[in-house]
Amino acid sequence: MDGHVGRHVYEHEVKAFLREAGVPVPRGVTVSGPEPDFGPARELAGPLVLKAFGPGLVHKSEVGAVRVGLAYEDLGPASAAMRARTAVAGFLVEEQAAPGVELIVGLTRDPGFGPVLLAGLGGVWAEALRDTALRLCPISEADARRMLASLRGSRLLYGHRGAPPVDVDAVVKLLMTVGGPGGLWERLELGEFELNPVIATSSGVIAVDARHLPG
Ligand code: ADP
Ligand code: MG
Repeated sequence: MDGHVGRHVYEHEVKAFLREAGVPVPRGVTVSGPEPDFGPARELAGPLVLKAFGPGLVHKSEVGAVRVGLAYEDLGPASAAMRARTAVAGFLVEEQAAPGVELIVGLTRDPGFGPVLLAGLGGVWAEALRDTALRLCPISEADARRMLASLRGSRLLYGHRGAPPVDVDAVVKLLMTVGGPGGLWERLELGEFELNPVIATSSGVIAVDARHLPG
């Protein structure tokens, strides 16, 4: 992602970078222009998620710029509604991941301590719950497991009220990819970023939102 300094790095660009680094992200296509041609989205398996992107679009769902559960035919009307509400540079259409436990994974760079990995419960309840753990990078695999076990809501990961346990090894692998030896924390071009949510299920993890934090 060289050459992007000084402008907004869009979700699909962060996701392309993450995919290359081995972080699972949804299959998706981007379209732009005043009359977007959603043809490339025919390749995707529904249900689909439509997200608008643009320089001023940060918290997308707050401005109606995320729609889930769409069929291919819904993309035109749903995108027109988004355009009517907010300034849009283009759209990301992606496959909708199966529901699971929504986590937040972040990387920040503390001026005093250096790169810090954050992991916790994410999604819509993230801010209300504030259930997160922090570790300096690089973390070990034991650190990753301890971070997860330290969450107040950790039982959601290990099987709660009949729900199957999530694939904790896949969560650990993701935390190592970001914060472990040789991890993304060493890649300065990505700076600071936040994956919220990462959806964890019994069959793996997938980062369905990725936000570059301008530093
Ligand atoms: P925001 O900018 O508002 O954080 P997100 O990209 O996180 O927007 O989308 C809002 C919510 O929609 C997410 O928290 C998640 O629950 C759901 N979502 C977004 N993308 C997907 C996807 N590909 N599959 C499943 N759910 C998704
Ligand atoms: Mg999000």
